[in-house]
Amino acid sequence: TAEAVAERVAQNQTTPNALPDAIRMNAYVQAGGYQLAQQVTSGEREAESVIQVLESSGLRGLGGAGFPAGRKWRIVRSQPGPRLMAVNIDEGEPGTFKDRTCLEADPHRFLEGVLIAASVVGCEAVYIYLRDEYHEARALLTQALAELHANPPCTLPRIELRRGAGAYICGEESAMIESIEGKRGEPRLRPPYIAEVGLFGRPTLEHNFETLHWIRELLEQGADSFATHGRHGRQGLRRFSVSGRVKQPGVKLAPAGITLRELVDEYCGGMAEGHTLYAYLPGGASGGILPARLADVPLDFDTLQPHGCFIGSAAVMVLSQHDSAREAALNVMRFFAHESCGQCTPCRVGTDKAAQLMSAEVWDADTLQDLAQVMGDASICGLGQAAPNPIRCVLQYFPHEVGAA
Ligand code: SF4
Repeated sequence: TAEAVAERVAQNQTTPNALPDAIRMNAYVQAGGYQLAQQVTSGEREAESVIQVLESSGLRGLGGAGFPAGRKWRIVRSQPGPRLMAVNIDEGEPGTFKDRTCLEADPHRFLEGVLIAASVVGCEAVYIYLRDEYHEARALLTQALAELHANPPCTLPRIELRRGAGAYICGEESAMIESIEGKRGEPRLRPPYIAEVGLFGRPTLEHNFETLHWIRELLEQGADSFATHGRHGRQGLRRFSVSGRVKQPGVKLAPAGITLRELVDEYCGGMAEGHTLYAYLPGGASGGILPARLADVPLDFDTLQPHGCFIGSAAVMVLSQHDSAREAALNVMRFFAHESCGQCTPCRVGTDKAAQLMSAEVWDADTLQDLAQVMGDASICGLGQAAPNPIRCVLQYFPHEVGAA
């Protein structure tokens, strides 16, 4: 649990000052770490039973797409070898900082998840793609990998740590793979899916950091321990990166399906002094913007779609009466225009054009709706497809801000 990690971090006295105060390998092993990896890699614990735990737990990819993790392992495992693995720690979604926080607290928990996944799926090499701006996390992970190789608890796959170069689009799985291959980070057209044709043309298991960080706990506690959490009919736990006008922003481990109102009141100490809830972005820059009157919608995969939004990597940004939804929307559209890889016209031209139109005092709603439709329908990847979300949300929920009401 987050509390247990915090307690162990507090107890750890061995980390050099220059690095985050993380759990070192000796402390991790003393607390039972890497026993599961040993059991899985030695065959004492069968791969099929591990996949079944994942499937029963309902664990879904926590980078944003939410694909069921167990099913993904089963699909890649069924592909012909050699198979590879790519781990996404690019964490470029604005407002998202959960992966860095967990990595800087407990890197070996993540690495044990990597070893278990690689063994179960039969991946002979692992490429970890780390956001370039995470200098301390990189130093820490380098140290943790050195500890692992100096004292391997089991047979290790080849593990390579790759630095990103600051491009948001390289958080998209196929663009990340292009980048790892040394090419320009541009998303691929699918099919084929990377589970079949991924890194260097090989079947590839791609995972976000947090998904792998959960593996040890799931296998130790059992699928039910994860699945019994949740609110409003949803299952599991989520790490929310909460920022904005709340008293206590930060990474909050909370039940899946919790509402924004509950998250702010129970986990963030309420709204900051002098601020009342006006709006919120439930899923970073791409997940749209919702008004305060929809603060009781469960936050989870699928639950926000009827409202034109999605949870993505659970980066929740809270706005108050001192903020403006149109300014937030314009800000993210400028971000998308800057970060578009430029490969396809609807996104390259559309984001720039949208930012210009959204700068007008009174929005041209018809033109913006047309543009949003084309971008959503014809863009190659999620960046261009999701970029119109803020436009639609402002027109639907905040028309008074843009002269459209
Ligand atoms: Fe690149 Fe945008 Fe097209 Fe995605 S939608 S491939 S980011 S231009």
